[in-house]
Amino acid sequence: MSEQLNNSGYEIPPELQGQVSITTLDKIYNWGRRSSIWPMMFGLACCAIEMICAATSRYDFARFGMEIMRPSPRQADLMIVSGTVTKKMLPQIVRLYNQMPEPKYVVAMGACASGGGPFKEGYNVASGVDEFLPVDVYIPGCPPTPQALLNGLIALQKKIDQESIKSVRWYSKQPDQAVPVPLLGPDLIDPRQVAKIKEYTQQKLAQETQTTEPVEPVAEA
Ligand code: SF4
Repeated sequence: MSEQLNNSGYEIPPELQGQVSITTLDKIYNWGRRSSIWPMMFGLACCAIEMICAATSRYDFARFGMEIMRPSPRQADLMIVSGTVTKKMLPQIVRLYNQMPEPKYVVAMGACASGGGPFKEGYNVASGVDEFLPVDVYIPGCPPTPQALLNGLIALQKKIDQESIKSVRWYSKQPDQAVPVPLLGPDLIDPRQVAKIKEYTQQKLAQETQTTEPVEPVAEA
């Protein structure tokens, strides 16, 4: 542990090596975070079975400090979106994300979560969870193997290692805004796009009324 935390450039006397570390606040925060990621225990489709495998003894993501999968978003800091993101499920996924405390991370596991996958053209499927949530790591595959998930989680740890408390959004002076929960009507509506949708609809209506106005008959000579 001390080797991971030590900052280069400081000399520690030989008799204290292994007992004393000189480090930065960033490094110790990041080390604590990356070594105790608690994923939320939920799955959406077939990819979830591979996620379950990654937790079992053969692959065992407990080795990375991730064994405590929490059934409550309030106690989780990682959302693994494992499966097809249907439009019906998306409002619930966003709500769960909003209920997670900061710092929080999102991993899009598999082709479906990353971009719609084999169901991309489906009327009921969202083309990737990143349309709504800030995804940190994408894992390709249909399904990705447990090893691929482990690789994605290690990539997330490397990303956390690069963070700084000066720039991460959860330490900024402005409170972090919740992601607006999409509305499921005849189709999925992003509340952030409502003004644009309204403007577009009004333009379309105006065009339609122009084209359907009765044409004046031309008087014969
Ligand atoms: S990416 Fe493939 S395995 Fe994963 S949920 Fe979609 S269809 Fe299933």
